[in-house]
Amino acid sequence: MSAPVIVVGAGIAGLVVALSAAPRPVLLICRSESDGATPLAQGGIAAALAPGDSGNAHIEDSLIAGAGCNELAALRLLAFQAPSAVAWLASHGVDFDRDATGHLRFAREGGHRCARVLHADGDATGRAIARALAAAARQAGHVQRLSGPEVGALLRRGGRIAGVEARDARGRTQRIEAGAVVLATGGIGALLARHTSPRGADGGGLALGLAAGAAARDLEFLQFHPTALAHTGPDGRLPLITEALRGAGARLLDAQGRPLMQGIDPRGDLAPRDVVARAVWRATLGGAPVWLDARRLGDELPRRFPTVFALCQAQGIDPRLEPIPVQAAAHYHMGGLRTDLFGRCSLPGLYAAGEVACSGVHGANRLASNALLEAVVFGRRLGRCLAQGECADAPAGRLRVIGRGADLSDPQPLRQLLWRGFGPERSGTGLRAGLDGIAADPALAQSWQGRLAMNLLQAALARPQSLGAHWRCDAAPDHRRAA
Ligand SMILES: Cc1cc2nc3c(=O)[nH]c(=O)nc-3n(C[C@H](O)[C@H](O)[C@H](O)COP(=O)(O)OP(=O)(O)OC[C@H]3O[C@@H](n4cnc5c(N)ncnc54)[C@H](O)[C@@H]3O)c2cc1C
Repeated sequence: MSAPVIVVGAGIAGLVVALSAAPRPVLLICRSESDGATPLAQGGIAAALAPGDSGNAHIEDSLIAGAGCNELAALRLLAFQAPSAVAWLASHGVDFDRDATGHLRFAREGGHRCARVLHADGDATGRAIARALAAAARQAGHVQRLSGPEVGALLRRGGRIAGVEARDARGRTQRIEAGAVVLATGGIGALLARHTSPRGADGGGLALGLAAGAAARDLEFLQFHPTALAHTGPDGRLPLITEALRGAGARLLDAQGRPLMQGIDPRGDLAPRDVVARAVWRATLGGAPVWLDARRLGDELPRRFPTVFALCQAQGIDPRLEPIPVQAAAHYHMGGLRTDLFGRCSLPGLYAAGEVACSGVHGANRLASNALLEAVVFGRRLGRCLAQGECADAPAGRLRVIGRGADLSDPQPLRQLLWRGFGPERSGTGLRAGLDGIAADPALAQSWQGRLAMNLLQAALARPQSLGAHWRCDAAPDHRRAA
């Protein structure tokens, strides 16, 4: 019998890997059923399925957004396997939105040349996908779930990652051995003072992989979303106002009510996210507001964008009658643990999927709605690979526990430090100040969050050019892309 697989994380990536690994036994561990980014995804999932669209056009748009440094082999898989990923989701109970004639309805988002993004339940796509896949996993005989514990260490036996150490809410630890460990632990947004992510997106899984010696890639590429609702909640989280709203005709306005993107980029409000996010960031630097004017959508807005409407209403804003105040916020990590086209990390026995992984598919800036797609396409490939017996024997040798380091009791100073140094615009001086700030504070320097932050700052310092979402305001002019 095959040694079981441990999957850490029950967002879209973890669920897809777990389901696709059948019949191999899977233990799916997560801190909570609902602390991931997946249920928050409002936009949707990109797939070149509309008449006149093509996989090649999807690749070209992804390359333009990614500043041309996407890994082409991975991007080809992403674009050409998108239709089968959508069919797979549908076969697992995801009901994509259709028009009155029963055809799939496509939305347009920034960076896409045409309407290419599928939604489910309007702007609650992530929730619909998470619900359907979680139900499928509950039905699947090969998947066992363990919800609640925090995985704080990896186990290594004979040169291979061979399990995890999990800690429950009472601080009790349990070692669980396995043939293979998949990290599907999501992104790092919550490490910054302003972000759209759930609190659980703290980079904990990335820190585990790095502590074990797994290779990382593109850590400096962090995407900022241009339209987070300008209302900071607990832990710096700002509710997201989906880009699909601009695809449906909403416009960004500056403090004087002038079109913000005019004269900045010929693609206007639908320019790639890095370009629009920097424009919003710069316009708000001195405290001036930026508005997203969606009034022209009128009563269509609550019908097509019920999540956005509810978020605005919770802040006393009626977006049918008044513009929405927005600001830029950390949103998606393109970088992560380096993976091959089957989700293998550089350490035997360790795998990664979803936002914590980096196959290079997004390059320096993710095209909107390519993240859910990536989790399905590469999660399925990894799951099938594990099903076919990869790391199926139990490893031999002495067991070693590789912890990631101490927990930081108060992450707020670190969040502020990263927002200042690792935000939408960076400089050598700011990055070095961030590194010095961490080194000078022993609690920070010894915590896993502080060590992870140092890895991020060092990666940004090592790339003196501006590229995609990584914008160095001290780069030589010929190293900057037009903004
Ligand atoms: C507001 C918002 C809107 C978005 N909209 C879109 C969109 O429209 N389209 C799109 O393509 N992408 C979108 N994205 C990005 C996309 O949602 C995420 O990249 C994707 O859902 C990440 O999935 P994941 O499975 O990798 O991680 P997550 O869904 O974040 O799940 C992470 C899991 O790991 C677990 N976990 C983490 N660390 C540990 C640990 N140490 N121990 C135990 N468990 C752990 C958590 O409990 C959780 O179950 C959006 C992101 C945000 C924040």
